[in-house]
Amino acid sequence: LNRRLAEFGTTIFAEMSALAVRTGAINLGQGFPDTDGPEEVREAAVRALRDGRGNQYPPGLGVPELRTAIADHQLKRYGLAYDPDTEVLVTAGATEAIAASLLALVEPGDEVIALEPYYDSYAASIALAGGTRVPVTLRPRDGAYHLDLDELRDAVTPRTRLILLNTPHNPTGTVLTREELAAVAALAVERDLLVVTDEVYEHLVFDGEHLPIATFPGMRERTVTISSSGKTFSFTGWKVGWVTAAPELVNTVRAAKQFLTYVSAGPFQYAVAEALRLPDSYFEDLRDDLRAKRDLLSAGLVAAGFEVYRPAGTYFVTTDIRPLGESDGFAFCRSLPERCGVVAVPNAVFYDHREQGAPFVRFAFCKRTEVLADAAGRLKTLAA
Ligand code: PMP
Ligand code: GLN
Repeated sequence: LNRRLAEFGTTIFAEMSALAVRTGAINLGQGFPDTDGPEEVREAAVRALRDGRGNQYPPGLGVPELRTAIADHQLKRYGLAYDPDTEVLVTAGATEAIAASLLALVEPGDEVIALEPYYDSYAASIALAGGTRVPVTLRPRDGAYHLDLDELRDAVTPRTRLILLNTPHNPTGTVLTREELAAVAALAVERDLLVVTDEVYEHLVFDGEHLPIATFPGMRERTVTISSSGKTFSFTGWKVGWVTAAPELVNTVRAAKQFLTYVSAGPFQYAVAEALRLPDSYFEDLRDDLRAKRDLLSAGLVAAGFEVYRPAGTYFVTTDIRPLGESDGFAFCRSLPERCGVVAVPNAVFYDHREQGAPFVRFAFCKRTEVLADAAGRLKTLAA
């Protein structure tokens, strides 16, 4: 590995999923649903394949049907008007959108502010771009994680190029409030910063509401908004994501994307275009189902003795293992399959300040109810 990537090695998700396979434990580590998304959307993919739509290189920005569906979604949900021909870019999942945005927007030596704990690809993408990451730590207080706006303000320097935002936030489940977002937006405008915002969990909000930062004053022109079909439609394997932003920003991100993947897989784009037009009840049912699962697993974790940070969004719940007499999340997660047949992820991997994350462990609840109930029963043996 070169110097830029040397610190990264294998992602924690691959490591922990391999551990689950090896031990036969219930995998609540890597976040992926154990049931696939809607039948009619799968049928749409099959139809596209069979009808020869997208079997050859699709357009660089993505197929027009999907770009229009994305623009319509942003308008209908958030009142954000984007031109599907110049302000929407389809990517190979949100992961590529993040990488392409950073590669295209960050100069070597630029500082990138990211909320810590941060999704693991942020650190690697910042490093690939030659940037310097500047973490601003979300801190647990009163059963939830909070952004310290003074710390964020203090983190901005003349070298700061952009703020990499994530709401709803993986792994803490925090959904940034209107006040927090307004403060981030005001700072970005004042210091003339770009914001790249990862909103892949936009439809998984149980308490409060998802507010895209692009809707705040002065932000539409300086925000790259990223989302993905993986979470909203339970097709993490399809790798269809997207960017919405002003034309110059989309062109810039596209300049990097075209040399990463050139284009994204064709037939799935047609299917995701149909998925985005599913009735509101689909999105409501998804959210209600996951809210019930959050409550089920959280109750199980409390009964097992964990301190639980109740997530307002995402499909992850972060816990503190100290009430169990443990303090090292890594060691805990490595021993958990053997102790009770469950796999989780140590939050320390999402920190620069690893000691800050040491006692925290993340569990995914995007699993069938009976699987979560089984896991809760297994975890309870820890309390015995
Ligand atoms: N951002 C966050 C915060 C995520 O949790 C994930 C998925 N785990 C991604 C991006 C990646 O999304 P995709 O699978 O669409 O590349
Ligand atoms: N986003 C998923 C998670 O946080 C995993 C994605 C991956 O494995 N890269 O668990």
